[in-house]
Amino acid sequence: MNATEIRELFPILDQKIHDCPLVYLDSAASAQKPIQVIEAVKRYYEWDNANVHRGVHTLGMRATDAYEAARVAVARFIGASSEREIVFTRGATSSLNLVASSFARMVCSEGDEIVLSEMEHHSNLIPWQQAAKASGAVLKYIPLKSDGTFSIEDVEQTVTNRTKVVTVSHVSNVLGIANPVKQMADIAHKKGAVLVVDGAQSAPHLKVNVREMDCDFYAFSGHKMCAPTGIGVLYGRKALLEQMEPIEFGGEMIDRVGLQDASWKEAPWKFEGGTPIIAGAIGLSAAIRFLEQIGLDAIAEHDRQLTRYAEEQMKRMEHLTIYGPTEGRVGLVTFNMGQIHSHDVATVLDTYGVAIRAGHHCCQPLMNHFNVSSTARASFYLYNTREDVDRLLFALQKTKEYFRE
Ligand code: PMP
Repeated sequence: MNATEIRELFPILDQKIHDCPLVYLDSAASAQKPIQVIEAVKRYYEWDNANVHRGVHTLGMRATDAYEAARVAVARFIGASSEREIVFTRGATSSLNLVASSFARMVCSEGDEIVLSEMEHHSNLIPWQQAAKASGAVLKYIPLKSDGTFSIEDVEQTVTNRTKVVTVSHVSNVLGIANPVKQMADIAHKKGAVLVVDGAQSAPHLKVNVREMDCDFYAFSGHKMCAPTGIGVLYGRKALLEQMEPIEFGGEMIDRVGLQDASWKEAPWKFEGGTPIIAGAIGLSAAIRFLEQIGLDAIAEHDRQLTRYAEEQMKRMEHLTIYGPTEGRVGLVTFNMGQIHSHDVATVLDTYGVAIRAGHHCCQPLMNHFNVSSTARASFYLYNTREDVDRLLFALQKTKEYFRE
């Protein structure tokens, strides 16, 4: 994989910020888009734009075919048994809200348990708080070790016969490590619970196979894997999706409507009320094609190597704390520089053209675990090079000097 050549396919990266070449190290928040994805969306609007599932005219049929072909592409991309297991949503957040609002409220009653970890993104935490409040279930947290990870023994201890849902991020957006989702699926299933996986940070970087993972639900966002914003996916086992009630009602999702009552289409269409995100699904399909042509294994290896290089160099810097375990980061490094606030670090870095993230990363419980209010995060993707990392290190050095003066 040649990141320098790949980079040229991303028009946005070819610009200067404060007279310095842009070094984009915030892909964990949102990835940039290659020309192939931009062109696919443009072509759709220039030639095929129409509403789906209704029009008998040519544009309507073309739009429907492209939208449904995107569903097939997603199913293949994550190894689902059928495209009927793929629900298009607005993103990982809506996907997780759908499972929590529909599935969890259906299966949980007073005293049942929803098990999750303290490293979860707020999008995989608040929906469960709400589901627990609505159903009388209790939230149980898998305890974290000092490095922010948890052990499989602690998962075993936490999951009981009262557990109905176990949920976890596949890859943490703060620690960058992958959690043992397959083992967690086994533990959950032995107790009759389901495993919900937040795949927002794994779908862009790892070759995902939901059947091998044996999860029951898997949620991710298009925009973190080179697709447009506004499109996401919920994978759910067909049998589970069939039992679930929709949470949005209106056009597109119905079978028959009377004055007092209505019935729904089958899954996944019953979950897609209203005009769907057609251009987004087409953009996602183009992004999948793009990533598959390069190869997910090659991307994963590239991201790992770059992260390792960055981490090794950063460890040599004085007063720099890296959060999380020392091994196994998939594509990001989270850190703080002594007493300098992470927002100040990110602001100074921006003056050198280096874009990183600062704040709580929507993980306030994990920040509390580390006893900090915020951290800085550099994240890497297929278009980043070692030169980008070197520019980051240079800018970090300058930041230190700036605050020392
Ligand atoms: N989970 C994780 C681990 C994430 O990193 C994110 C995005 N920061 C989300 C969920 C939510 O994704 P979105 O905002 O695209 O819905």
